[in-house]
Amino acid sequence: MAKPSAIVVGAGIVGLAAARALAVKGYDVTVFERHPKAIGASIRNFGMVWPIGQPNGHLYTRAMRSREIWKSLLTEAGIWHRKTGSLLAARLPEEMAVLEEFMQKDGRSTARLLSAAQAVEQSPALKADGLLGALWSDDEMIVDPREAIRLLPALLTEKYGIHFIFGQVVNRVKHPAVWAGTQRYQADEVWICSGQDFETLYPEVFNSAPITKCKLQMMRTTAQPNNWNIGASLSAGLTLIHYRAFENLESLAPLKTLYAARYPEHLAHGVHVLVSQNGMGEITLGDTHEYGLHLDPFDQQSLNDLVLGYLSEFAMFPEIKIAEYWNGTYAKCTDGNTEYVGRPEPGVVVVNGLGGAGMTMSFGLLEELVR
Ligand SMILES: Cc1cc2nc3c(=O)[nH]c(=O)nc-3n(C[C@H](O)[C@H](O)[C@H](O)COP(=O)(O)OP(=O)(O)OC[C@H]3O[C@@H](n4cnc5c(N)ncnc54)[C@H](O)[C@@H]3O)c2cc1C
Repeated sequence: MAKPSAIVVGAGIVGLAAARALAVKGYDVTVFERHPKAIGASIRNFGMVWPIGQPNGHLYTRAMRSREIWKSLLTEAGIWHRKTGSLLAARLPEEMAVLEEFMQKDGRSTARLLSAAQAVEQSPALKADGLLGALWSDDEMIVDPREAIRLLPALLTEKYGIHFIFGQVVNRVKHPAVWAGTQRYQADEVWICSGQDFETLYPEVFNSAPITKCKLQMMRTTAQPNNWNIGASLSAGLTLIHYRAFENLESLAPLKTLYAARYPEHLAHGVHVLVSQNGMGEITLGDTHEYGLHLDPFDQQSLNDLVLGYLSEFAMFPEIKIAEYWNGTYAKCTDGNTEYVGRPEPGVVVVNGLGGAGMTMSFGLLEELVR
């Protein structure tokens, strides 16, 4: 019997995860990508596979399953990745209160609260002066998104026979037909994983979907000297107000009130700081959050200064020489859901809106959806 067939639109992390999950299920898969290689959100991020941001339960399980898939694919392909764990530094008593409540309520076995001295042992970048403690999590992994997203298609082709057609825009879908360039293709199933370009296909579906865009400003340092190693990926108090794992904690409300007085500009621009180091020793830093369907194409140095200023409150590196600036845009749900899954017609599935957690969640999510 012939294998069922599937077409996936988009070779970002969501499209790659869909293609893998469908191929594992026995589908004959073809992936269309508009560009000669994917250049969207999936290569513009920190490369942080960050389960600590997900609440214990099915989202944490999904993140851990994603990490497992990442690890096995990257190991098989010989692509750089590093299990670093993560540290979230607390420098205010109100931040410590949130971490303590998290530890009481979340219950995962891989997280623990460290004293300032213990935290500095995990990362030489943390400023000991004024540090009260840190949340350590053992789960986090760093991938190099530029390398991983570029190289994974070759492994997926070799391992599962997935066929990639790069440099080809899909301009219309009407199941079972898919038009790309001047050609018509067809498949039993079509999976649309188009990221922030959600206006082109099924515009009427997206017009009414609870989904928007978010632009983030990012920076990268030159390689740190003498193979200096940051140890864990880093974040600090402001990150607590951005991730689901902490959102229901009672102690978050007083912290937010404190931040409103202390960091009004940071809150207005969604500034918090995440830090990851890649295999070449470069450090990726960010970020800011600007929401809307029509985003400012230009970056603001004043916002990068807010990021660097906040970074300097809790961390330092041997060298902070910025080598690159860029921005990235992801699609995000506006109704509080972790992703948008639509079925605009039988045989067509849209998966989008994973927000700031797509690198952490996609492999696990798509496996669940395909199942
Ligand atoms: C700056 C930044 C930092 C982030 N940091 C992290 C992090 O550290 N950890 C984490 O878990 N998540 C992070 N995220 C979130 C994560 O990167 C996104 O959730 C994820 O990359 C979204 O993947 P995607 O495949 O939906 O989108 P994309 O990566 O944008 O891919 C969509 C692809 O579809 C293609 N496409 C669109 N329409 C068509 C069409 N009609 N025909 C053909 N091709 C088409 C596009 O060219 C594109 O390559 C970050 C995001 C940003 C922007």
